[in-house]
Amino acid sequence: GKRAFIAGVADDQGFGWAIAKALAAAGAEILLGTWVPALNIFETSLRKGKFDESRLLPNGSLFEIAKVYPLDAVYDTPDDVPDDVKSNKRYAVATGWTVKEVAESVKNDYGSIDILVHSLANGPEVTKPLLDTSRKGYLAAISASSYSYVSLLKYFSPFMNPGGSSISLTYLASEKTIPGYGGGMSSAKAALESDTRVLAFEVGRKYKIRVNTISAGPLRSRAAKAIGF
Ligand code: NAD
Repeated sequence: GKRAFIAGVADDQGFGWAIAKALAAAGAEILLGTWVPALNIFETSLRKGKFDESRLLPNGSLFEIAKVYPLDAVYDTPDDVPDDVKSNKRYAVATGWTVKEVAESVKNDYGSIDILVHSLANGPEVTKPLLDTSRKGYLAAISASSYSYVSLLKYFSPFMNPGGSSISLTYLASEKTIPGYGGGMSSAKAALESDTRVLAFEVGRKYKIRVNTISAGPLRSRAAKAIGF
């Protein structure tokens, strides 16, 4: 069977969950990367059976998650984590959640993976028009939503089985103007799409891994509700 790591699952409402479940239904072993500040509530809900209804697979069994890894994809190594984040109590609940450390943990625990899914994005100023977006907000959107895919591929590709596959989720606002999708998120998706072409070439040559992005239709996930979509 295949083993998949899905980054960006913190409830049962978003694309990441649905992709993980579909991969599980197809027989894959599922590892999740969950944003550190959302880790406690996700694990508690999972344990208390809050997701049991949406864990139901077509064959009647429940979708099993082999392991949940805390992850913050805006930090590549421990050196990148600022002191205020290190001392933040929402981050103190776990350790080893930078991209490089998570990759090392997955490699130590399982040796290799076949499928890497990037289903995460964050734009702190997403409700602001681009014209009103600060430099800080714009760069934060790019960091969380675009560079995070470069970073995941950088650290996971070396232990992905050749012939494996990776995918991220993009959105139409990269190519057409969609009012309301602000804060540099439209820019972040354009970067993600361009990077996908370059990474497909680089990672394809170096590791024999496919790199794709799919432009998803609108879904009322937690992230989408936050911007009133
Ligand atoms: P979602 O809220 O279920 O998923 C986003 C996840 O990203 C959340 O679990 C959040 O905790 C996580 N996250 C945010 N910052 C992170 C960080 N720094 N490190 C690790 N995880 C972090 O919402 P979704 O809409 O399913 O989003 C998944 C992907 O689909 C995103 O890339 C989004 O842009 C894309 N997308 C969504 C829509 C839509 O209409 N919902 C449309 C097209 C594309």
